[in-house]
Amino acid sequence: MKKEFVVIGLGRFGGSIVSELVRLGADVMAIDSHSERVDEYAKIATQAIIADTTDEEVIKSLGIRNFEHVIVAIGENIQASILTTLILKELGVKQVTVKAQNDYHAKVLKRIGADHIIHPERDMAIRIANNMMSNNVLDYLELSDEHSIMEIKASERIAGFSIKDLDIRANYGINIVGIKRDETILISPNAEEKILLGDVLLVIGADVDINRFVKKTMG
Ligand code: ATP
Repeated sequence: MKKEFVVIGLGRFGGSIVSELVRLGADVMAIDSHSERVDEYAKIATQAIIADTTDEEVIKSLGIRNFEHVIVAIGENIQASILTTLILKELGVKQVTVKAQNDYHAKVLKRIGADHIIHPERDMAIRIANNMMSNNVLDYLELSDEHSIMEIKASERIAGFSIKDLDIRANYGINIVGIKRDETILISPNAEEKILLGDVLLVIGADVDINRFVKKTMG
């Protein structure tokens, strides 16, 4: 059976959730009080509806209580976000995920029974800062939400081994696309190339895979 979701609030965050859920094969009812926002998602979402979700009768008439999971992505209008969440929980929606604007907002949401409270901007900032603080990651270029090119300082653990010895592509699903050594850069190094201490590896791949490589092979 297809998974079904309701997304309320089609700003940048809510809109991206709609697109991604649809891409992953879910049915999505997308709701916003502004017709332009709804028009934008009419072709993407399974249903796109203009409605003010602070009105309990509206929520009832749309049958939202029959959905397992509702995402409230109303941003700036904190009052509307709180009221919508309250109505959804009172009507018995099992999973209500709400985007919080700040800590006070989050506190209220918790009190009224929101099941998951998310802080997308803060969480993304934490992830990026963590990435940047990793001692061996010198720089990175985000290619997508999940893929990057990173500059990683070669540690003692891998110095002296060739790319083939480490079998990086098979073991981690990532590729070394270049090696910076002193003032030179070796583009597309071949598998026999030995990594030297102090080399900077230019690695491309999924963030999770690169992080796995960094953790496993770096000192
Ligand atoms: P983002 O950063 O994701 O764009 P934002 O914090 O800027 O988020 P807003 O644009 O403030 O988000 O709100 C998201 C959407 O929520 C807006 O399109 C707005 O029309 C919608 N919205 C606000 N109040 C209601 C409501 N009562 N019912 C339905 N939708 C609403």
